[in-house]
Amino acid sequence: MTEVPIATPREAFEMLLAGNRRFVAGSPEHPNQDAARRTEIAPAQSPFAVLFGCSDSRLAAEIIFDRGLGDLFVVRTAGHVMGPEVLGSIEYGVSMLGSPLVVVLGHDACGAVAATRAAVADGTTAGGYVRDVVEKVTPSVLAARAAGHTEDADFIAEHIRHTVDLLLERSRALADAVEAGRVAVVGLSYRLADGTAHLVTARGLDLPLGSAA
Ligand SMILES: [Zn+2]
Repeated sequence: MTEVPIATPREAFEMLLAGNRRFVAGSPEHPNQDAARRTEIAPAQSPFAVLFGCSDSRLAAEIIFDRGLGDLFVVRTAGHVMGPEVLGSIEYGVSMLGSPLVVVLGHDACGAVAATRAAVADGTTAGGYVRDVVEKVTPSVLAARAAGHTEDADFIAEHIRHTVDLLLERSRALADAVEAGRVAVVGLSYRLADGTAHLVTARGLDLPLGSAA
């Protein structure tokens, strides 16, 4: 029933980047946002990508990638930290809905990363369940510090790479799908000021790094 069946990880990735380019240029097409699309996909969904990103309100998935209903299976947490429910949701998108692409979406000036950098630097921690977020970002911050990084962009990139690695380490279903060539996992870094999404890391996608938008 779906209008644009997506066959390969590469096609899904290019479709996502094309939407981001329209958004950046200020000429969005708002595809799949009308009543006809709503009716068409009511019986079943087959999103072309699973998007796992930071909850930041400036990172609204369907807006920044200029997509609509039934296009993206979205999972977002502060600082894109993961636990069992997140892993289960991503596996559902890949295994049950057949999405060929998983995107980890981080961004500059991320509050979760900044809070973790401050906690590590001061030897303090956050209260309540925010502490869980900080603790899960901590390995990325420690790795970036150990590598001698001081710039925000380097901490963000490290955390995106770490999230992609952790995803494939913890989810056998996802790792197997990548191994089989059915799914790609990419890490993108989003710039709040200009709306561009940049490729940080990719698995299962034969693209040279830096070639993305
Ligand atoms: Zn964030």
